[in-house]
Amino acid sequence: MKRIVLFGAPGAGKGSVADLLSVRLSFPTISTGDLVRAEIRGQTEIGRKVQEITARGELVPDPVIIGMLDRRVKQADVKSGYILDGFPRTPAQAQALAALPADEERAVFLDVGEDVVVERLLGRLTCQKCGAIYNRKGKMPAQAGVCNRCGGTVAARSDDNEDSIRQRLQVYLRETQPVIDYYKQKGLLRTIDGVGTVEEVFARLLEALA
Ligand code: AMP
Repeated sequence: MKRIVLFGAPGAGKGSVADLLSVRLSFPTISTGDLVRAEIRGQTEIGRKVQEITARGELVPDPVIIGMLDRRVKQADVKSGYILDGFPRTPAQAQALAALPADEERAVFLDVGEDVVVERLLGRLTCQKCGAIYNRKGKMPAQAGVCNRCGGTVAARSDDNEDSIRQRLQVYLRETQPVIDYYKQKGLLRTIDGVGTVEEVFARLLEALA
């Protein structure tokens, strides 16, 4: 069982390269943001609880998100490995992750400046069904508003607005930066330049994982 953890600010491009890596390795990507959005869409008990928190750009409480990850990694498709996009984001989550078995773990940090991530997030469009990522200034769906991959609706995420973006960046610096520093200090982290096209960043990711 191999685990690959992708770190980076919101908008750093984790989801885009995770999609490519998932195809390359035949491992599923587990995006905790996608798990949260599925709960909200389904208006489950958890979904109703976390809807407001997520809309404000704050983090879902650790026990809730850790529980969601625990359930997801037990599914049948996570046999030989998985890629994590958006987890762990707090020291408690890093601890919970360390308790989950993995024969091999790799962590990569996508380094992108704040001005670039804000611009990316403001232009980002996301498939509301499968999570595929597009951008108004980059790759757009062949048919406006319709996902190339699954035919789902493509639109801006409700939390990709300026207020929420600002809040998410603050939360990232406060809560997630210490986790990244911890991985760095342990010598577990490779850093790659996250600026460029998805293909360029993906090539750097493959090199970092080689
Ligand atoms: P993302 O798609 O990774 O940007 O996540 C969207 C939102 O889901 C975040 O702003 C949080 O509210 C919530 N979320 C996703 N992953 C986590 C996590 N690991 N811990 C806490 N909240 C999370």
